[in-house]
Amino acid sequence: MGLSTPRDLLAHIPRDYKDWREPRPLAAIAADALSSLEPTEEIAVAHVTSVRDVRARIAITNVELRDESGSLRAVWYGRRGLDGKIRPGMRLFVHGRVSAKRRRGAVTIELNVMHHRVLDEDAAFTGEIVPVYPATKDVSTRTLRSIISRNLTRLLEDVEERLPDEIVRTHRLITARKAWHDIHVPKLPSDVGPARRRIIYEEFFAIALAAALVRAERKREGNAISIETAPELLARLEESLPFRLTGAQHNVIAQILADMREPHAMNRLLQGDVGSGKTLVAAAAILAAASSGVQSALMAPTEILAAQHAQKLAPLLLPFGVTVEAVFGSLSAPARRTANDRIASGEALLAVGTHALLTESVEFKRLGLAIIDEQHRFGVEHRAALRAKGSDAIPHTLHMTATPIPRTLAQTRYADLDLSVIDELPPGRTPIATYVIRESRKPVVYEFVRKNVARGQQAYVVAPAIEASGYENAPRVAAVDEAKRVSREDLAGLRVDVLHGRMPPREKDAAMARFTRGETDVLIATTVVEVGVDVPNASVMVVLDAHRYGLAQLHQLRGRVGRGIARSFCVLVAPDDVAETRRLEILTQTEDGFRIAEEDLRLRKAGDMAGTQQAGAGSGTFGDLVQDFSVYLDAKREADRIVAGDPSLERPENRALRGLVETMPAARAMLISS
Ligand code: ADP
Ligand code: MG
Repeated sequence: MGLSTPRDLLAHIPRDYKDWREPRPLAAIAADALSSLEPTEEIAVAHVTSVRDVRARIAITNVELRDESGSLRAVWYGRRGLDGKIRPGMRLFVHGRVSAKRRRGAVTIELNVMHHRVLDEDAAFTGEIVPVYPATKDVSTRTLRSIISRNLTRLLEDVEERLPDEIVRTHRLITARKAWHDIHVPKLPSDVGPARRRIIYEEFFAIALAAALVRAERKREGNAISIETAPELLARLEESLPFRLTGAQHNVIAQILADMREPHAMNRLLQGDVGSGKTLVAAAAILAAASSGVQSALMAPTEILAAQHAQKLAPLLLPFGVTVEAVFGSLSAPARRTANDRIASGEALLAVGTHALLTESVEFKRLGLAIIDEQHRFGVEHRAALRAKGSDAIPHTLHMTATPIPRTLAQTRYADLDLSVIDELPPGRTPIATYVIRESRKPVVYEFVRKNVARGQQAYVVAPAIEASGYENAPRVAAVDEAKRVSREDLAGLRVDVLHGRMPPREKDAAMARFTRGETDVLIATTVVEVGVDVPNASVMVVLDAHRYGLAQLHQLRGRVGRGIARSFCVLVAPDDVAETRRLEILTQTEDGFRIAEEDLRLRKAGDMAGTQQAGAGSGTFGDLVQDFSVYLDAKREADRIVAGDPSLERPENRALRGLVETMPAARAMLISS
């Protein structure tokens, strides 16, 4: 289960509890079972009056139980080795599912035993609250319960009190040891709440401390290049556009330029839904840097995206004397050398590229601004590597993402970043009509695609994997197979092309270029088209096996259409047998990425939101970032106060807090990554 240390075991906390404190009279249990449509879980304490072992295909042990109120049959199914262990006269505790069995007109009430314990005759029954652990097929909650309860005392010996007394007191928290005890074996149901709050508080406090330390450290370093921008420059950029910047674009540009003026490095996350115009915001920042004579780097996750950025930015920036150099893995060696030379000499004021930008041979003369597009596609080490390209100064860094992150989540997951949001789309967008369609009606969907192509439009069809594989649970349709099939059948006669991540970069670019030029009618692709691709003439997005994706990711895919003047459509195809279409319906109701993200977050656990798999708060934390947000804000206030007075936690009374940050994985990751 990935539990490799005692601490992991302790931190494997129950997902639920069962209240086994009040056994009920057998007669009451039987009466309820008669009127209940479904089996109910019950506990009872009673005497055994008779035992009958049946050895059929599976071992069955039938036991008659009796107490003052009446009797009940208890049955153990498939429990070998039980023979002879249960004898008449014994006093038993049993827990199981009770149901009424109707056979040949007769009704028997049966308790299907899940747990039992033999009790001493005269011992008072003291019930308990039983933890239910997250379990797997191989490791049952029962096994975990037994391992943890047998070792709890020893596990608790290693728990140290890391929160300062003062915080424990002012926030009325219980001690760490009591919290870890009570979360596993609460005496009362009401013990769980305070235990959980204490554990979450400590966790959030560690994250908030790490964030505060990172910010303080950055302020102290003070060796970024301070970039002063003439306001006319921005006005001239805007004049060169065929449209006006939105108010939201103006706001975030102002925030970014204010950061870049500071002598310590900017570290800002720019969130803007698909199509909100982040590229222009990036252009403004690049222009500002160039006007101070410093270089910028723009890193995108795929060659397709990087090429698109280069194509869009070059004509915007060239009139201002900003030359753009593209750096891709697929460049020929001589082309690559030329690009590297131009970057090293400072002749290129902007380098646009993929991971290839991070290779050692790429050296900047004076890198002042690093922009990371679709930042969640990069690991922390990649982001750090790009920042490290600024030789004498730390570059100002702008992280961009089209994945809307609910405010609560952003505050914790990206606690060390400042946040900017483009909360307004450029005017004149027509809404994208979205439908959820059952797989059996796929032919109708392709017919619809055909109609739109006949009107001169283009379409995307997204399929989950590259080629169908035999294993169970594999996607039902795969891009390559589907392309072959539809070119012969549903879409015969149309120009169909394939795009997937395992194609050589050159072929990918060629396929994308053909689609962009309108030489392909239907592009059958994997989610490589998810981010950033911009083809205004494409007006239909079909997603096959749509139930496999998170809402946020589907929203991203949908954002590939609705970029031109034609009416656009998104068709989500889900198998007939999947009840999940309810989840997909949310997309038919709204195009507000933040609402979709909140909904996604509500439906899934905070940690595994689609596409955000990086380490950080939200993964491996107990706290629910939405539900427990107020606890986070409390913890953050304390952390900020402490770090403001002692920016590197050097005071003796604060030294233990360093340990707290080090032992909390999400907090440590934050320190390392920045
Ligand atoms: P994203 O935020 O998804 O990266 P882009 O920067 O690619 O969005 O912009 C999407 C489209 O909107 C582009 O074609 C761009 O030229 C256009 N655009 C950007 N800003 C505006 C604006 N203020 N008014 C009209 N169109 C705009
Ligand atoms: Mg973009």
